[in-house]
Amino acid sequence: MNNKIMYSIVVPLYNEELVVQETYRRLKSVMDSTKENYEILFVNDGSKDKTVDLVYGICRNDEKIKLINFSRNFGHQAAITAGMDMSSGAAVVVIDADLQDPPEVILDMIKKWKEGYEVVYGKRAKREGETFFKKFTAKAFYRLLKSMTTIDIPVDTGDFRLIDRKVCNALISLPEKNRYVRGLVSWVGYKQTCVEFVRQERFAGETKYPLKKMMKLALDGITSLSYKPLVISGYLGVVTFITGIFLTIGVVINQLINGKNIVNLPLILAINITMFGLLLACIGIMGQYIGRIFDESKGRPIYIIDSTINYKRVDKRYEISC
Ligand code: UDP
Ligand code: MG
Repeated sequence: MNNKIMYSIVVPLYNEELVVQETYRRLKSVMDSTKENYEILFVNDGSKDKTVDLVYGICRNDEKIKLINFSRNFGHQAAITAGMDMSSGAAVVVIDADLQDPPEVILDMIKKWKEGYEVVYGKRAKREGETFFKKFTAKAFYRLLKSMTTIDIPVDTGDFRLIDRKVCNALISLPEKNRYVRGLVSWVGYKQTCVEFVRQERFAGETKYPLKKMMKLALDGITSLSYKPLVISGYLGVVTFITGIFLTIGVVINQLINGKNIVNLPLILAINITMFGLLLACIGIMGQYIGRIFDESKGRPIYIIDSTINYKRVDKRYEISC
């Protein structure tokens, strides 16, 4: 076996004390079966439970396992980004820690990569053990996003995928802060294909993606890939303006010809509230874009690393002994 790292497996971790040992065991068994050199990068995204202590223990016994420990919770997409930034493999695989993405599928991805594909994404043929709400919102969102952009974003895929070193380097070179990594992977192009798999039930513990985080991710996806919401609010403004002109003409004519006042207070109130709502919604949409421009302009890093383990090549400031 030569020393060159062939595969880097990036695993983001946020409060995953109940799954991390089993995830390590399953990943190790799959990756050992390739008979090629690999590294597993656990990215601890500011966990508040015993996740990091458990990973320390794993790293102590297995130097193929590396830890990137964030200074606080920066979010799933930041954790994936850090893993890519710090990876050395000829191919990089991103996989969730909770075993919903079966590690065995990595072998199918590797096969496709060896056939010459540069991105192999996991397509969820079926989702086991998830709530109706989660399945419905995910399905609706992927289709909404697809309809909003000209980039070909495959539906029903998460971040579980294998990317070639070329693709990883292209992604690393993108400086944007509020990242929607799966969209960026589509944006960079290259030869892409999928492998289908059945998304499993979470091995243990609860989802780390509450509604608030899901909404943020969805908005990052839309705003980073499409201007359509801004265009639609512009169209809405035009339609409202034209309707207003016709209404005004109608009211004036009615008063002049029939001498009847068709406008009453409840009607004025109803129209006012509707228009106000529409206006605020359009300002809110603009706000989503402006907030992200603000984030970019500050130039802060996407994440901050507190420490690392089993890394030889990074800044010694981060290296801690264990
Ligand atoms: N995760 C993370 N930071 C967060 C939230 C989640 O690193 O702020 C990780 C989490 O540990 C898991 C992956 O992202 O490995 C996906 O999270 P989860 O399985 O809870 O999401 P779901 O499958 O329910 O959408
Ligand atoms: Mg999950």
